[in-house]
Amino acid sequence: MSEDRTIVIVGAGHAGVQLAASLREEGFEGAITLLSDDPRPPYQRPPLSKAFMKREADAEALILRGPAFYEQKRIDLRLGVVAEAIDRAGRHVTLSSGARLAYSQLVLATGGLARPFKVPGADLAGVHVLRDMGDAEALRDRLETSKRVVVIGAGFIGLEFAAVAAKAGLATTVVEVAPRVMGRAVSPVVSDFYAGAHRGFGATVLLGAGVAAIDGEAGRARGVTLGDGRVIAADFVVVGVGVVARDALARAAGLDCSNGVRVDALMTTSDPDIFAIGDVALHPNVWSEREMRLESVQNATDQARALARTLTGRPTPYTALPWFWSDQDDLKLQMVGLMERAETFAMRGDPAARAFSVFGFRQGRLVGVESINRPADHMIARKLIPADAPLSPEQAADMTFDLKALAKGAG
Ligand code: FAD
Repeated sequence: MSEDRTIVIVGAGHAGVQLAASLREEGFEGAITLLSDDPRPPYQRPPLSKAFMKREADAEALILRGPAFYEQKRIDLRLGVVAEAIDRAGRHVTLSSGARLAYSQLVLATGGLARPFKVPGADLAGVHVLRDMGDAEALRDRLETSKRVVVIGAGFIGLEFAAVAAKAGLATTVVEVAPRVMGRAVSPVVSDFYAGAHRGFGATVLLGAGVAAIDGEAGRARGVTLGDGRVIAADFVVVGVGVVARDALARAAGLDCSNGVRVDALMTTSDPDIFAIGDVALHPNVWSEREMRLESVQNATDQARALARTLTGRPTPYTALPWFWSDQDDLKLQMVGLMERAETFAMRGDPAARAFSVFGFRQGRLVGVESINRPADHMIARKLIPADAPLSPEQAADMTFDLKALAKGAG
């Protein structure tokens, strides 16, 4: 049915590459063109702030699929090519080369960009973000030649970087405007634990602290001035204040956008022949009560898998349970479900032993679990939540209660 179709995918990150692979797995036999503005072979981003930053993995180890894969699967991967405009009426994309690429269906998997931080001095040399491999390479070099760093923003990426920097012996200061770390994503108890853990790694963690300016000297960052006038000296500054959707291409084409490209449950945009997946997709999430963008490998790859089925004739709404991980020094945080919905919490394990899980409940139902160095709890929770297994906060907190058996019974 599909031989004469051409599917063009813009963006070769986790979402775009998975979609190309899944289309073949689902039997799509038409042409697939995968565009990447990056000249490097498509790679994984999570290690950039973890093993790659610590020089425990090199660029080669991060490659998503080797060159043979694209050849064998007849995926026309074009590196260093920017999709510059979409002509919806003419159903083609204009490339940076000036060429036009016709599509039957177009998929936007353009990901995100580091959120711009608008304070005086933000454009000084020595102010870094961490989104792509080039950013990570620059930061690795800085780690080796510097003594002091200020990290602005205590989200996952800022904290992962801060953990590496503190471990490497740099005087590390984390400045966060909110009252707690990772505040948009985790429960208060986990925030408190991590603020303490980072202090234990050697960092200074300043909460409720706004940055008034990044200070410079001869065009280079030399530290930051806080809203209350305090000055913190640094050899370089890392800004990790979130991610914005890379939706400019979609906006220019007149697609419905708002903090991302708006899609329905089938990942279809306001144009029935154009789809969006991954970090850029503002989607109705069945595990939430609102539309949302998720920035995770799970979301990118599961949306790609669902869309591959839809594009091969089996309309498949996106329903996957969200999960995520973050490695900060010796602490492996794994999260499943959406903790933002939780009203009551139960603790299993012992924070003092650096191994515990927080179970979040809403109206008596388990909605999210955060596990720190307790991978088994995480895997069990990935079964309990979708099965809506009957678990009370008291049982969750009781270490003698057999969660594994409950998960087994839940199927
Ligand atoms: P991306 O991976 O951003 O890929 C989009 C690609 O599209 C990019 O290569 C971009 O250059 C390209 N592109 C954009 N516009 C165009 C255009 N017009 N033409 C051509 N190409 C274009 N997630 C986790 O689950 N766990 C983690 O521990 C974790 N750690 C992370 C650490 C770091 C440092 C970063 C940056 C992210 C981390 N993430 C983590 C998030 C995860 O990497 C993202 O959610 C995931 O990469 C999203 O995949 P994507 O394909 O939607 O977007």
